[in-house]
Amino acid sequence: MDSSVPVAEEQAEQADAAEVRGFWERLGLPGLVDVHTHFMPERVLRKVWDYFDGLGPLTGGVEWPITYRGDEDERLAVIREFGVRAFTAMLYPHKAGMAQWLNSWAVGFARRTPDCLHTATLFPEPGVEAYVRAAVDEGARVFKAHVQVGAYDPGDPLLDPVWGLLAEAGVPVVMHCGSGPSPGKHTGPGPVAAVLARHPRLRLVVAHMGMPEYEDFLDLAERYGEVRLDTTMAFTDFSERFAPLPRRALPRLADLGDRVLLGTDFPNIPYPYAHQLHALERLGLGDDWLRAVCYENGARLFKINH
Ligand SMILES: [Zn+2]
Repeated sequence: MDSSVPVAEEQAEQADAAEVRGFWERLGLPGLVDVHTHFMPERVLRKVWDYFDGLGPLTGGVEWPITYRGDEDERLAVIREFGVRAFTAMLYPHKAGMAQWLNSWAVGFARRTPDCLHTATLFPEPGVEAYVRAAVDEGARVFKAHVQVGAYDPGDPLLDPVWGLLAEAGVPVVMHCGSGPSPGKHTGPGPVAAVLARHPRLRLVVAHMGMPEYEDFLDLAERYGEVRLDTTMAFTDFSERFAPLPRRALPRLADLGDRVLLGTDFPNIPYPYAHQLHALERLGLGDDWLRAVCYENGARLFKINH
């Protein structure tokens, strides 16, 4: 960090970290497992930030000031200071011909970042089965698929063998398939339900709890035992403004407590990290639920021991 950083800013960062650590320490956890964080090649990440700054369609026109904007080393220092024991490098292509390049970057990132779960991505294009298989062979532990940004149908025939091989390998895929904050041509529960009908053992992690179609995605999780949901941005003041969780869904969330995973969207969030944790806490589902969601479920899924 630059020595010219104002003292007030440094103090704010320390207070931020103290709040996050206080949360998991109170629960008696060894830290957090965050299945939805973004690390990607620097120039791609800058483009994503420009997109949020420009109130692009991804934000649904909502103002989205990014809270954590340091360079990669600074962002890693922040997330480690929070006590996040394992996290991911969610990266995704918006067009064909990009996924393999992102995957090769992710291999290098995972090698130099042992606390990051080696992440890979995909796109419906010729050759996808081969490069997904290569990524799994190279040790990819989680995939990211972005149906809205990629504007593709997850039921595309090119992806059918990919879902089959990921289901067989037991490698989870975090999929942005809900229609929030803004819908895409293939978002919503329908296309993904068709994929699950063909691949019922696919370890699908529905990003953002499927916001705003929470209840439809809860249906899928109740129907398929390998479907999980990540909490990314859900229940925060920010998201509750445009996609509130129906209160009647809370008992279902409680029942699915072993398949809800902490995700945050760090660093691309318009509020401090601790707010996501407090947003989970105020659901009132209890400390056992919080322990499962914030650490135990992710540690079990990814076989993390500390
Ligand atoms: Zn995300």
